[in-house]
Amino acid sequence: MKICDYLREGNFSLSFEFFPPKDQKGKEQLERTLERLVRYRPNFVSVTYGAGGSTRERTVETVGWIKERFGLTVMPHLTCVAHDEGEVLELLRLYERMGVENVLALRGDRPKDNPKEGFCRYAVDLVRLIKREFGDRFCVGVACYPEGHQEAKSLEEDVEHLKEKLEAGAEFAITQMFFDNEYFFRFRDLLAKKGIEAPILVGVMPITNFKQIKKFADLCGATIPLDLARKLSEVQDKPEEVFKVGVEYAIRQCEELLDHGVDGFHFYTLNRPEATEAIIEALRDKIFSVRK
Ligand SMILES: Cc1cc2nc3c(=O)[nH]c(=O)nc-3n(C[C@H](O)[C@H](O)[C@H](O)COP(=O)(O)OP(=O)(O)OC[C@H]3O[C@@H](n4cnc5c(N)ncnc54)[C@H](O)[C@@H]3O)c2cc1C
Repeated sequence: MKICDYLREGNFSLSFEFFPPKDQKGKEQLERTLERLVRYRPNFVSVTYGAGGSTRERTVETVGWIKERFGLTVMPHLTCVAHDEGEVLELLRLYERMGVENVLALRGDRPKDNPKEGFCRYAVDLVRLIKREFGDRFCVGVACYPEGHQEAKSLEEDVEHLKEKLEAGAEFAITQMFFDNEYFFRFRDLLAKKGIEAPILVGVMPITNFKQIKKFADLCGATIPLDLARKLSEVQDKPEEVFKVGVEYAIRQCEELLDHGVDGFHFYTLNRPEATEAIIEALRDKIFSVRK
């Protein structure tokens, strides 16, 4: 199923993101996670890609395995940095043969050990390539940043670049994680001002490990509100307490987002089911009343 077709009708979307496991133990963990999360009938699940191709084979294998084993719509992420056109086209043709209909088109960050100049400077180059070579055979999604991407001079300029990706043929965007809804509401107002109407799926990252989230948030420039950071640091050595604080916060955050009519939730699961499950269960009635 093409995600774009579902979203075009104004439907609320629920999706889960996974990374390709490194070994058999990781695959079994992912299988257990999927077994628990499939009952929420996600509209799609996505599989990340290591920029520069570090997970190329594992991403393809995981996409094929999830499709086969669970019959879900699977969207691979694809980053274009440090790849030439041929490498990207080969991968897209393989996905086409596998029956994949959706791709998340990203630039990625250049890996330190891979100085190769690729064909793409920005994700828009990848969107254009997909549209030029495959027309509408793939529904294309892109990334967006409610707090602005770290390299952008301003949020306004970053939104202009998001607009370029959508004008090049992308049909929806998924946000980077954020922990303060005000950033998202301001971002959405700015999109409306710029005439952007594409569905924006909210990337939800429940905090279950304070040290890890601080690292992620630093890397992608997401602000952790002071009162949340304080609560988490008070319990940082007690994993169950961190989980409780993080999940309760995410439930409140998601509830407010639902009340403001967001287009969908895309859960960054880190291949674990517990936090995603707890949030969906707490908001079950609200989520399932807006879903088709
Ligand atoms: C939902 C989601 C999923 C992700 N999945 C992965 C993954 O699987 N693997 C991975 O490696 N990374 C992933 N990332 C991270 C992403 O690759 C990085 O954030 C990367 O730095 C930017 O990628 P992009 O596609 O947003 O790039 P772009 O859209 O190209 O933007 C990058 C920067 O360039 C600027 N820019 C864009 N166009 C122009 C232009 N024409 N002129 C000047 N400046 C311009 C933008 O404003 C921005 O600052 C993901 C991010 C998100 C939000």
